[in-house]
Amino acid sequence: MSIEQVLPSLEGLKVILPPDIPSDYGRDESGAARMPEAVVEATSAAEVSKLLGACAAAGVAVTPRGAGTGQAGGCVPVNGGVVLSLAKLNGILEVDEAARTMRVQPGALLQDVKAEAERHGLRYPPDPGEKTATIGGNAATDAGGPGALKYGTTSDYVLDAEIVLASGEIVRLKDRPEYAGVIGGEGTLGVVTELTLRLEEPAGSDAILLLPFADGESCAAAAGRIIAEGYAPAMAEYLDTALVEYSGSVTGNAVFPVELDGERVAATLMLTLEGADEDAVMEQMETLAELAEELECLDILVGDTPTMKREFMAAYEAFHSSVEGAKSSCEANVSVPAQRVWEYMEYARGVGEELGVKPMFCAHLGSGGVHAYAVSEQARSEYAPQSEAFVKALYAESVRLGGEAAGEYGVGCTKQEYVAAERRERYAALKAELDPAGILNPGKAVR
Ligand SMILES: Cc1cc2nc3c(=O)[nH]c(=O)nc-3n(C[C@H](O)[C@H](O)[C@H](O)COP(=O)(O)OP(=O)(O)OC[C@H]3O[C@@H](n4cnc5c(N)ncnc54)[C@H](O)[C@@H]3O)c2cc1C
Repeated sequence: MSIEQVLPSLEGLKVILPPDIPSDYGRDESGAARMPEAVVEATSAAEVSKLLGACAAAGVAVTPRGAGTGQAGGCVPVNGGVVLSLAKLNGILEVDEAARTMRVQPGALLQDVKAEAERHGLRYPPDPGEKTATIGGNAATDAGGPGALKYGTTSDYVLDAEIVLASGEIVRLKDRPEYAGVIGGEGTLGVVTELTLRLEEPAGSDAILLLPFADGESCAAAAGRIIAEGYAPAMAEYLDTALVEYSGSVTGNAVFPVELDGERVAATLMLTLEGADEDAVMEQMETLAELAEELECLDILVGDTPTMKREFMAAYEAFHSSVEGAKSSCEANVSVPAQRVWEYMEYARGVGEELGVKPMFCAHLGSGGVHAYAVSEQARSEYAPQSEAFVKALYAESVRLGGEAAGEYGVGCTKQEYVAAERRERYAALKAELDPAGILNPGKAVR
């Protein structure tokens, strides 16, 4: 059946049809694009259920969408059909301070979830980069980010969820744990219409430390040593000086060190230390200073005031937008075993040299997430052949090293060929059980 035959069953729902569909509904930040035949902007689980029931019966594809910030084409309707926008189902329903939980609808933005937790003296730790992503999109991609080292990923904070299955049936995860795969299922196994999130007490005090190194390999190795010595940094980020410089040239202020006492910094380790109070953080900083000498870092720069911490985080968060603003750019976001991050970056440099692509890196040391970026002044069409070859080589290498091309950001439609065969099989069995008609986000397979 076609979409026209489904439309009469959607009475009462907000349906947008061509030519009125805004072009955003056909793309995300990956560059993948295809316009849907209809968009439904849902405002309740009942509406989602009505839509899915009708589409399952008619065999019409439905692609859930949050804010469309994904980088893997997850919300792009590659097989056409309906885009189901959850953006307007965005209420924060309840914060239970005593139980430290928040009940929230999927379209609420990450920044609003975090701010609401803070208003109640609590915190929602996951912080996967893009604050204007929806919490539903975070849950569907099991988003991690720099804090994953200490705090885990979004699924670690999902205590319960309301899920609409492809059939239109509405279930609670708490009652039906067999549907846990919907969290991280990239909208292919069910639609999340409500989440109960676990919140935490905030750390009493924290500080951001910058440890610049004259050679990148020592920087990459330092985090492992620091963690092995018993420190539990909330973040341990590898900041490539090439990326620091590039981003600084865009924003007007590099913030992170590029040169110290005439010596070029190759990379900086950015660490966040937390403790019960200022004394506890100070104590860690003092002992770390001794270790830092052994690790041969060039200096330790401390950000312990709110202004400095904000400045460091703003400079860090500007990396991505600076790259995106270039005339041409590409990026590969993967995960590799934590001890192989340096080896991976060396590979990327080598393959970049062969292809005429100059990579710059930011990596979540400790958890193995690597973001490789490259920019060019060439026109997009001219740069595309070598940048695409570069990104493909990097995805393949992440798998070869025992990591995942999907690592962070999901599989979507751009990383399909890098899903391991056994995962594909496991996923196919789950898909057949939860969505036998294959209407939910077809064209995507999941990690
Ligand atoms: C600057 C930047 C930095 C980032 N850094 C990180 C990082 O460090 N680590 C990391 O893990 N990620 C990172 N990301 C990726 C980020 O986590 C995703 O972009 C975000 O989670 C997607 O949310 P969204 O609302 O935009 O979802 P969309 O892009 O709209 O959708 C993403 C996927 O989720 C599905 N989906 C959306 N809502 C629902 C729902 N309610 N029910 C079922 N399925 C749904 C869609 O079908 C799609 O498959 C970064 C992104 C950006 C732009």
